[in-house]
Amino acid sequence: MKTFGLIGFPLSHSFSKKYFSEKFKKEGINDVVYQNFEIKHIDDLPSLLDSYPELHGLNVTIPYKEEVKKYLDDLDHSAEKVGAVNVVKIIPDGRKIGFNSDYYGFRTSLESWISTNVSNLKALILGTGGAAKAVQVVLDDCNIPYSNVSRNKSKADYDYYELTENIQIVIDHRLIINTTPLGMYPHINEAPHLPYEIFNSDYFLYDLIYNPETTLFLRKGKENGANIKNGLEMLELQAEKSWDIWNE
Ligand code: NAP
Repeated sequence: MKTFGLIGFPLSHSFSKKYFSEKFKKEGINDVVYQNFEIKHIDDLPSLLDSYPELHGLNVTIPYKEEVKKYLDDLDHSAEKVGAVNVVKIIPDGRKIGFNSDYYGFRTSLESWISTNVSNLKALILGTGGAAKAVQVVLDDCNIPYSNVSRNKSKADYDYYELTENIQIVIDHRLIINTTPLGMYPHINEAPHLPYEIFNSDYFLYDLIYNPETTLFLRKGKENGANIKNGLEMLELQAEKSWDIWNE
């Protein structure tokens, strides 16, 4: 049976197994299985591949998105530019190619949300982790200028203190993308420190978080009339992109 799966550690809260199992059931795909492979070290990957010669593809999650690259033969544009891999395609001759489907998920969802006639849009990316890197590459490729915001000014263009002290910075950036875990379940009463009172219908607030559906960041923006989007579409698009990569 064709096997697909997820490597990472730990995997108790992972979305992929449930998503793919439901997809296979709903779409009547009977000859495949999706399994979690909770490996304690990335160096366990070669023996995993030896034990499962029927593996056709893997998703990769924390903490192996970067380390997995040493076991791959090639990277596509998305993984090369983001510097992280969350999808591995195993081709019949045994070669393993890395992709970054967060790149595709974020790009497709952003492009369908921000219509091309929204011009002069500049973005603020909140947070400087792995998800922020995928967002940066998409914005580069879409020619949307951006600045980074971090708790630690030495890692970014601005810190949160500057954004509330000098609201002109926020006024100049109408697309604000939260890539921090602030507001994610169960910490639903947290939100990035921003001058929320200035947001109106000219602003676009995108939160990569999908649980809860409406984070405090999005709720505070919406109360003032901002356009909002959560991370659910990105999550589903990146999963579907994995499936396309494995089957193309
Ligand atoms: P991460 O590396 O753990 O954190 C991202 C960044 O957030 C950190 O580098 C940090 O940047 C900032 N941060 C962390 N804790 C913070 C706090 N208490 N206050 C303010 N800033 C804080 O996570 P990630 O892997 O990039 O993922 C980030 C979020 O995106 C998660 O909520 C994840 O679930 C979501 N995500 C969603 C999708 C999707 O498909 N929708 C895909 C990937 C990720 P600084 O140190 O520079 O402040």
